[in-house]
Amino acid sequence: MGLLSQVLSMENQTVLITGATAGIGEACARRFAHLGARLVLTGRRAERLNALRAELGEERAHCLAFDMTDKAQLTRAVESLPPGFQEVTVLVNNAGAAYGMEPAWEADMEEWETMVELNITSLLRITRKILPGMVERNRGHIVNIGSVAGTYPYPGGNVYGATKAFVEQFSHNLRCDLHGKDIRVTNIEPGLVETEFSVVRFRGDKDKADSVYQGVDAMTADDIAEAVVWSVSVPQRMNINRIEMMATHQTAAGFRIERRAQ
Ligand code: NAP
Repeated sequence: MGLLSQVLSMENQTVLITGATAGIGEACARRFAHLGARLVLTGRRAERLNALRAELGEERAHCLAFDMTDKAQLTRAVESLPPGFQEVTVLVNNAGAAYGMEPAWEADMEEWETMVELNITSLLRITRKILPGMVERNRGHIVNIGSVAGTYPYPGGNVYGATKAFVEQFSHNLRCDLHGKDIRVTNIEPGLVETEFSVVRFRGDKDKADSVYQGVDAMTADDIAEAVVWSVSVPQRMNINRIEMMATHQTAAGFRIERRAQ
């Protein structure tokens, strides 16, 4: 069977996307919906979730508005899924953020803790809630949104990069545990994507956020969503382990050498 016919089979998929109120998650929601999938959309901003649901079709999408870093809220939300949305076949672990870019000795400890809670702990919690059902049905796909920051260090990337390195290793280790089962795991590792990411990183400073994307043709949320959907739509015999993607005009920065006067 060719790739196109696989794409058309999205009608049998129930896709849970964390962080669907903006950026990559929102773009994934639109792409999966367009291909006929049923959706569970999460995020804190309920009004955005409701607007997206209205756009994609009330019966096609179910919204769960909660804070991923709140264990009780997450548990309650996932356990509240109505019939028709309980058997999640694709989990897109997308909700995530970077806070700040200060060097390690100046960074805000609370922001470090929030990044660990959001990018690591909440991803683990929701995966641990959804995975048993996938194993029971021997069907599923977990798509984690990592980052090039998980592979390449940069000044000020400190804890954000470390959380994404965790996500990459967790993805590979999940594959090992799922050996022999019909459940796939993919780690998507984008570089520069123009979304609300930098506004969040710079705590609402829009000018500073805009300067990140100034003069460069950054990737779009839709570019990343295309890779997510593609990784899910390839034939079941194939697992896309990881996809690393950068803007053409972004490269890994390379080593720096501090030279001292002789
Ligand atoms: P974005 O536009 O800021 O979207 C982030 C999403 O995560 C929003 O829907 C947000 O929803 C949700 N979220 C954040 N904190 C949350 C919380 N505590 N509880 C529930 N939901 C929360 O950023 P994006 O660029 O699309 O980022 C998506 C993923 O891609 C992240 O994992 C990020 O690390 C990764 N990534 C981004 C880039 C980039 O350059 N943009 C590059 C590599 C990787 P609410 O605010 O409504 O809660």
